Amino acid sequence: MSASPPAPAKIVTRFAPSPTGFLHIGGARTALFNWLFARHHGGEFRLRIEDTDRARSTDAAIAAILDGLGWLDLNWDGEVVYQFSRAARHAEVARQLLEAGHAYRCYATPEELEALREEQRAAKVPMRYDGRWRDRTDWPNDRPYVIRLKAPREGAVTIHDQVQGAVTVNNAELDDFVLLRSDGTPTYMLAVVVDDFDMGVTHVIRGDDHLNNAFRQLALIRALGWPEPVYAHIPLIHGSDGAKLSKRHGALGVDAYRDQLGMLPEAVENYLLRLGWGHGDAEIISRAEAVAWFDLGAVGRSPSRFDLKKLENLNGHYMRAADDARLVALIAPGVGAALGRDLTGDDRALLQRTMPEMKKRANNLNDLTQGSLFWLRNRPIPMDEAALKLLASATPGLLDVARAEFAAQPDWTAAALEQAARALAEREGVKLGQVAQPLRAAVTGSAQSPGLFEVLEVLGRDEALGRIDDALAR
Ligand code: GLU
Repeated sequence: MSASPPAPAKIVTRFAPSPTGFLHIGGARTALFNWLFARHHGGEFRLRIEDTDRARSTDAAIAAILDGLGWLDLNWDGEVVYQFSRAARHAEVARQLLEAGHAYRCYATPEELEALREEQRAAKVPMRYDGRWRDRTDWPNDRPYVIRLKAPREGAVTIHDQVQGAVTVNNAELDDFVLLRSDGTPTYMLAVVVDDFDMGVTHVIRGDDHLNNAFRQLALIRALGWPEPVYAHIPLIHGSDGAKLSKRHGALGVDAYRDQLGMLPEAVENYLLRLGWGHGDAEIISRAEAVAWFDLGAVGRSPSRFDLKKLENLNGHYMRAADDARLVALIAPGVGAALGRDLTGDDRALLQRTMPEMKKRANNLNDLTQGSLFWLRNRPIPMDEAALKLLASATPGLLDVARAEFAAQPDWTAAALEQAARALAEREGVKLGQVAQPLRAAVTGSAQSPGLFEVLEVLGRDEALGRIDDALAR
């Protein structure tokens, strides 16, 4: 047993994803917590790609992980470590343990082990290797063997986990697990311990599905006489209904939050931060604040629930706070694709000018893209259902009169146009809305838009009058 080790001089954390799928939301949160902890302490955040499962690791998954971390701006220190490339080092450590008597050769055949498991199943006892080669030296030198750790059998191990508290497991419950397979390849358990040590990792922050592994890893670390890392096992993320998070809860790859949902990285980051960690009532937390405030003590012990609605609202907040030029740059490709042409400098200037208003009305970049199209459409602009309805139900003749009034205005400004519309409504004995709604439909192609008179001003006299003419001609 040991108390939690004293904090080391320099803190090193790591994110160690297995590249067998996209960077999912839980992995991104693990990365973020490791990044924040390292930055908070002025330490290092390392990245290790655990690609030892050759059948399931793909280059596409590696690319998705690097891309996702880049998008979230979780920069790592030093080179990326690829675990598979270090297999020789892992094997060397296994052999050292063998020589030092902390590990042993096991010649049990797969059939033998299967028979053992069968017995244990029948006896309804936990399945684990029984140590049958632990003390033998009558090695059949012509047969392949695995190297197993000679794990302690008496006593107990306590991990002083920074999130879970003190967790104890009896050594009798842990078996002599395999370090090196008979083909000379390292197991995951060995690779993680060796890599963490070689990378100088001081704090292991990861999902609590790895807590069980931590006891075995600690036994190995102690056999090696290496410094013990501080552990922090974070509860997994659940769906809003409390069940384990799955695709149906919105558990997409990080790339989908960008590409399909049109989210901003700072919103996703803020959301992930609040998922299992808190600082008083703070909901909107800047990156600088997060770095200043982040600690492991405030990570909750119960699973957090993923709530897509909350994330969408948070994204709306960050949309409104975002720089206009940045938003223009972000939507320009989508706007261009929808219009079927490259945007000109004038197009971009127009989007930039309208952005303060437009971004208030959109919770994500997709809505902003869609909502912005009407500014740049070629005449005659398409009309949606609601706009067509408005035009069909407009007071007959009113749109013609409004057009004539506007055309006669010397000043094409929002204020002058509004005054003209109000005067017209009064004269005709109708509400302003009866004048404004068909006009809105005519110039925007929809029933919802930023302030009509501002829209008219920004479109300019010729374009606005042309659009009204198009509506009149329908
Ligand atoms: N590669 C493991 C995973 O993706 C993480 C291992 C660790 O953090 O120790 O689940």
